[in-house]
Amino acid sequence: MHAVHNPARARDIVGESALADAALVDRAVRAAAAAAPGWAALTVTERRDALKAAAGAALEDFENRARLLTNEQGKVLWESMVDLAGAPYLLRECRRLIERVAAEEIVDDERGRFVRRRRPVGVVAVIVPWNYPVLLAFNAIAPALAAGDTVVVKPSELAPLALTAVLHAVSAALPDGVINVVPGDGAQTGHALAAHPTVRRVMFTGGTAGGREVMRAAAESITGVGLELGGNDPALVLESAVVDDALVTALRNSAFTCSGQVCFAIKRIYVHRSHFGDLVEALAAVTDQLTVGDGLDPASSIGPLISAAALDRVQALIRDSAEIGGTVTELGRKLDPAGWERGHFLLPHLVTGIPQQSRLVAAEQFGPVLPILPFDTENEAIALANDSEYGLAASVWSRDDEHAFAVARGIEAGTVFVNVHAAGASDHTTPFGGVKQSGIGRINGWAGIEELTETQMLIRRDDAANLPGPPA
Ligand code: NDP
Repeated sequence: MHAVHNPARARDIVGESALADAALVDRAVRAAAAAAPGWAALTVTERRDALKAAAGAALEDFENRARLLTNEQGKVLWESMVDLAGAPYLLRECRRLIERVAAEEIVDDERGRFVRRRRPVGVVAVIVPWNYPVLLAFNAIAPALAAGDTVVVKPSELAPLALTAVLHAVSAALPDGVINVVPGDGAQTGHALAAHPTVRRVMFTGGTAGGREVMRAAAESITGVGLELGGNDPALVLESAVVDDALVTALRNSAFTCSGQVCFAIKRIYVHRSHFGDLVEALAAVTDQLTVGDGLDPASSIGPLISAAALDRVQALIRDSAEIGGTVTELGRKLDPAGWERGHFLLPHLVTGIPQQSRLVAAEQFGPVLPILPFDTENEAIALANDSEYGLAASVWSRDDEHAFAVARGIEAGTVFVNVHAAGASDHTTPFGGVKQSGIGRINGWAGIEELTETQMLIRRDDAANLPGPPA
């Protein structure tokens, strides 16, 4: 067994989780494979009813699960509620797509009959990170169930408890074997799952290094992968922007929600030189209003980082920024100074005066420290934004809408927001995913269904005699 610790009181054990070995992973995959034909054969009405029951089960015991999630993950309680609410929301949204999944496109013409249809891929492995474990798991599970696939889910070792509770409830509302859970770590359990030859699709959300390993493991059986990976999202504040309270509050919320541990948080700001001083000053003022403490304390605006290793990594980036001559400003307030050292707490920081090549700008910091760099021309800003191995999301801020959209078209990212950069701005109707090393594939809505089904053609040719063949 593996102990799950509370990031706000690192000595406290919130619960325990098992470590599934390759034999247990094999059993789970076999159970999913055995359930797959029956699940795939449901009618549209039966599948819609099943997902409705699943959505109901996902809502059970909501407040206790939210508290559990905050205790294991650290984030403030309302964020845990948003995370948990993602499961019933996504199940309900995907119910709407079931009829379209089942629809066949039939063409009868002088050549014969062509039937284009979608088949479930079969067993889908869902590998989940710790930051938004429930919502991110159901980003893959909900479309997989709507598509007629069965799933095997591997939660993160760091925050497996709330997700596992939701999965137990949801799986009890569905036929046996449709949802399976394999708790464990990435190196052993996750690898065994991604490498299993019966798994037909691996939906992985996590860091780029993990995604690379999963691709390698899946390659052995030519298993398809959907990779939602890390990002280093730039926000471009153009000369045509007005730096007001609304703008800096939106930048702050994007960068520091969940202590910056969000895949598409703003991770670097490029601001036109004419606004640089005003923006830094105003952003520092609103960031200074943040309070850092236990996520269960209603006075906390942000909680701790997930682990001691994460805290060390982010502190090293802050130290490096100071050592290379940057101006590092620590902001916000400690809610419980006496209990500060007990958790993996870090106050929010703004950093200026460091170059594009510095570690903080180049890396995915995944923590509450934000670099701000000036630019002179928009071409320069676009080049700086694109100077990254990542390409998850980005944002452009301007009062001139058309101009902002024109700049957005030049940015290498799966999503470019205009005057917004927040969870929820990319909802279930908008395909989401990264370019470059931020991932492969798209989730959300019909895009998610396409990832989790195979197109099948049924063809009868009435003109077979006229088809080109080998020379006589
Ligand atoms: P990791 O890549 O460390 O882990 C993600 C999951 O993959 C965990 O369940 C982990 O297991 C597992 N895993 C790790 N290595 C392997 C492997 N070799 N084979 C199979 N599974 C493996 O990411 P984090 O959990 O630390 O999450 C943070 C990262 O996720 C950030 O880079 C963030 O940007 C990204 N992310 C991307 C999102 C997106 O939508 N693009 C959304 C959210 C996060 P375990 O940890 O239990 O060992």
